[in-house]
Parts: sequence; structure tokens; C-alpha cells
Amino acid sequence: MPTSVVTGGAGFLGSHLCEHLLARGERVICVDNLETASLENIEHIRDSAFTFVNHDVTEFIRIDEPVDFVYHLASPASPIDYLRLPLHTLKVGSYGTHNALGLAKFKRARFLLASTSEVYGDPQVHPQPEEYWGNVNPIGPRGVYDEAKRYAEALTMAYHRQQGVNTCIARIFNTYGPRMRPHDGRAIPTFVRQARADAPVTVFGDGSQTRSFCYVDDLIRGLYLLAQSGEHLPVNLGNPREFTLLELAELVISITGSKSKIVFEALPIDDPQVRQPEITRARDVLGWEPEVELENGLRRMLAAPGREPVAF
Ligand code: NAD
Repeated sequence: MPTSVVTGGAGFLGSHLCEHLLARGERVICVDNLETASLENIEHIRDSAFTFVNHDVTEFIRIDEPVDFVYHLASPASPIDYLRLPLHTLKVGSYGTHNALGLAKFKRARFLLASTSEVYGDPQVHPQPEEYWGNVNPIGPRGVYDEAKRYAEALTMAYHRQQGVNTCIARIFNTYGPRMRPHDGRAIPTFVRQARADAPVTVFGDGSQTRSFCYVDDLIRGLYLLAQSGEHLPVNLGNPREFTLLELAELVISITGSKSKIVFEALPIDDPQVRQPEITRARDVLGWEPEVELENGLRRMLAAPGREPVAF
């Protein structure tokens, strides 16, 4: 059976990926320092093929057994986290990605980088195809995340071109589902938390900015297919159905049966106005497209076992 290392495996996406790989009969080594997650995400996994290693990937990653795949997800991911941890975010994108790529090179493993739609910044092209180079403000507060991921992509391609490492890059668009932290600052968990408490639902700006939301099961299936493919160029993974933030807030209030009212707050600096993946490459190369509609996905998320708000 193949062995996969999942860095950031105790996080929101990482924990779902670990479960997916275990369900396919793989051995899974989860490497995470619990910087923005907790063991709560993986404590239910009772499988002798699963190992958790508490380790900071900015330090050398040592694994004493053969490895077939390295899924590199470790990184602060929500704005609240990377604004709190700007230097750490840059270190994880640089040293952490070097170490994960070094592991893949040493083990002759296939390497997958979890990159992000944020490499497109505030896009001038809509929807965003992989050929678009982006419009990122390198010195704004969000630059630590966007540029860390852009550097990580450049590093991944350099390891591929110069060192012959078998790499791939997933550009992940907004993904949601069970185990998102209620206070992680991203729109869906925030709206759900506020609506469940009948508290005001806070929409930034006038709510006309758009996002696309991919259900976690769809995304994990895409990551797996990409790792299995022979593709080396970046592949967008996200749901191309676009919603305004106001539509999202209204939908969350409606399906939670909440009495919440919507209130408007100032837009954060460099908040992108639009965000929509062009997924032709994922369709052509992976035969992948999302299957879960937003309302259905939100209902699944709401039905999942709840967790108390936890501050990290
Ligand atoms: P998350 O915060 O839940 O998970 C990130 C994990 O990385 C956490 O478990 C954290 O403890 C770990 N981590 C952070 N620094 C580390 C370090 N130095 N060493 C070891 N582990 C470390 O976030 P997520 O939403 O699951 O995101 C996972 C990956 O996917 C990230 O790389 C993120 O940039 C990318 N991504 C996510 C989304 C999304 O919508 N969820 C969108 C685009 C990209």
C-alpha cells in the first residue's frame, strides 16, 4: 500500500485528506505542529495505518520509512491566522516548502503543493485561468500569505525543473465543510456561528464582492486525483458557481432558520472583489468537477457534529 505524508494533516483540509487516504487503504503519516489546528480534528481516527508526528515543518522533516506521496498543506490559511503570524507564514511557505520538497526528493515521492487562489490577488481577469499571473500587493498585510504561496509555487517548479522532483500544484479556491473553526475568520464559519446565535451577520463592504465555495469532499477528491495524475503545471480546484457575500449571508440565515439581521462593516485591505475558478484544466486533465451545490453542502456542514468555538 502506498505511504503518504500529509503536512498540516491535523488541519481542516488535512484531516479530511488523511481520512480519504486511509479509506483508500493507504498508510498515512500526518506531520503537524498544531499551530492553527487541534488534535480534535484527528482524535477519532483509529487506524493502525495512521501516525501523527508533532513537528514544525520549518525544521528538517525526517521520516524513517519509504514514502510515495508528500501532500504539503502545512501553512496558516485563514486571514486571522496569517495576520497574527506574518513571519511564521512566510517561513512556512519558504523553509517549510523547501523541507517538504527535500523529503519528496530524498524519497523519490510525488509532491503536491496546496497553493491557493490568493496567488491571483485582486484579479483583473475573470474567471481566473491558470495562465493568469495575478495582481498581488506584495507589501499589503495579506502579502505575507499571497507571496509565501507564490514563492512556494516558484520553488516547486524549480525542484521539478532542476532537481527532477515529480511535483504538482493545486490552486485551491475557498473550501468549506465540517471542522472549520467557528472563529477562523472565513466567511462561511463566521456566518454560521453568527446565524446560529441569532447574532448580527457581518458582511464586509456592500456584500457585492463574489466568492465561489467548494465543498470539502469535492476538493479532497480533486487533490487525490491530481496527486495520481502526471500533471506538473498548476491546476485550479474550486467550485465555479459564483455567489455574492450578501447572497451567501442570506442563504445561511435561511437554512439555519435564524432571526439574525445582516449588518455591513468596512472592507478589509486588499479584499479581492471577485473570485471564480476557471476549471477547464481540472476537467480535462483530471476528469474532475465539483458535485455538491452550496445549499446542500451547507446543510451537510450544519448536520455534522458541532464543536464549541475554540480560540487558538
Ligand atoms: P488549517 O489552518 O485548518 O490547516 C493548516 C494546518 O497546517 C494546521 O493543522 C496547522 O497546525 C498546520 N501548520 C501550520 N504551520 C505549520 C508548521 N510550521 N509545521 C507543521 N504544521 C503547520 O487550514 P486549511 O484550510 O486546512 O488549509 C490547508 C492548506 O490548504 C493550507 O496550505 C492553505 O493555504 C491551503 N488552502 C486552503 C483553502 C481553504 O479554503 N480551506 C483555500 C486555499 C488554500
